[in-house]
Amino acid sequence: AQSEVDNNDGFVPKMPSFDYSPPPYTGPSADEILSKRKEYLSPAMFTLYSKPLNIVDGRMQYLFDDKGRRYVDAFGGIATVCCGHCHPDVVEAIVNQTKRLQHSTILYLNHAIADFAEALANKLPGNLKVVFLTNSGTEANELAMMMARLYTGCHDIISLRNAYHGNAAGTMGATAQSNWKFNVIQSGVHHAVNPDPYRGVFGSDGEKYARDVQDLIQFGTSGNIAGFISEAIQGVGGIIELAPGYMPAVYSTIKKAGGLCIADEVQAGFARTGSHFWGFENHGVVPDIVTMAKGIGNGIPLGAVVTTPEIATVLTCRSYFNTFGGNPVCTAAGLAVLKVIEKEKLQENAFVVGTYLKERLTALKDKYDLIGDVRGRGLMLGVELVTDQELKTPAKLETLHVMDQLKETGVLVGKGGIYGNVFRITPPLCFTKEDADFLVDAMDYIMAKM
Ligand code: PLP
Repeated sequence: AQSEVDNNDGFVPKMPSFDYSPPPYTGPSADEILSKRKEYLSPAMFTLYSKPLNIVDGRMQYLFDDKGRRYVDAFGGIATVCCGHCHPDVVEAIVNQTKRLQHSTILYLNHAIADFAEALANKLPGNLKVVFLTNSGTEANELAMMMARLYTGCHDIISLRNAYHGNAAGTMGATAQSNWKFNVIQSGVHHAVNPDPYRGVFGSDGEKYARDVQDLIQFGTSGNIAGFISEAIQGVGGIIELAPGYMPAVYSTIKKAGGLCIADEVQAGFARTGSHFWGFENHGVVPDIVTMAKGIGNGIPLGAVVTTPEIATVLTCRSYFNTFGGNPVCTAAGLAVLKVIEKEKLQENAFVVGTYLKERLTALKDKYDLIGDVRGRGLMLGVELVTDQELKTPAKLETLHVMDQLKETGVLVGKGGIYGNVFRITPPLCFTKEDADFLVDAMDYIMAKM
């Protein structure tokens, strides 16, 4: 079996048992799919492994390939599958809604949309209760930035270096990692120094980083700005927890400059950080606009922007319309997701299992010099590999090697960070301690042989 690879020391990482076998796969082979991809799909649509997996089934925290091999999905479809793959309640909600009505525009009434908006608004603090529905995180952030600009009458937006906010013109401007940017016009965004405790110039001093935002406003703008957009924990950027004290200080600076604070919860939201439902709550701030996608629909294309009634009025002066935003099948899935998170106490599980996993990864860091940093919260964790602890030299090749070996052992993790040397661990929130043990044992097993 894949998890019982022979090891000279007799130590074998053991995949937890799971009571499900997918039906035999009878579709085209991986090679056939790959050749179609090469011919018909843009090469910009890259795959995770040089020899990509043909994934044909998913159940909860596990994925299955065409040969029936099971993998622990520690990437969670890019932090997207929060309840678990094909969670029965979510599937049931989608099937029931699909049978009844697949599509209805927001021009008509439909309870699936209204019920979801109500349930979502009830999860947010303060006066954040007006919901706009979109299809993706990019669209949600585009809308949020436009709202901030309309509301304030200003154009300048501040985002953080190393941020990822999407891939359309406006959001690509807010994204600040060269590997995700094209050289086209992305106007009006200024990038502040990233409050990254591991690599940042001011270490863990949140106040100092916040002063950089003050300077950026003073020297790079008219002094008045439209807003500030930030993730609570940077995901694509390599699971960077912002330096303590940074967010409250920056929110106050932004408000003084007349701007709105936008929290991008596309990855850190929906209970992923364990201690809170929303990532921003870990920083003790309340944003003016919150954007979300990924976990909101457990993998179904759905996104949202939530703001206050006052800010929401900026869009009522003309029509604002999105054909698929608020599709009833997607919102039925969204409502089921909210119920599952509560019913199965997934936030609590993310906290307990995430804390345990982080402790075990931190112990592994003490064992191997290759691990430069372990960070994150709940089930949003990062492991950064370096070839030199002092210089923090990114261990790019080693990252690829370990990732590939993890796959062979039966664990799928993501990769991120500007240097591509950070494992992103963002599994479905039903991840268990046994899954966590398997992941860490597999890493240990692989690193011991390097
Ligand atoms: N914001 C964050 C924090 C993200 O991680 C992403 C995608 O990875 C986006 C926005 C864009 O979302 P989407 O890919 O759904 O457009």
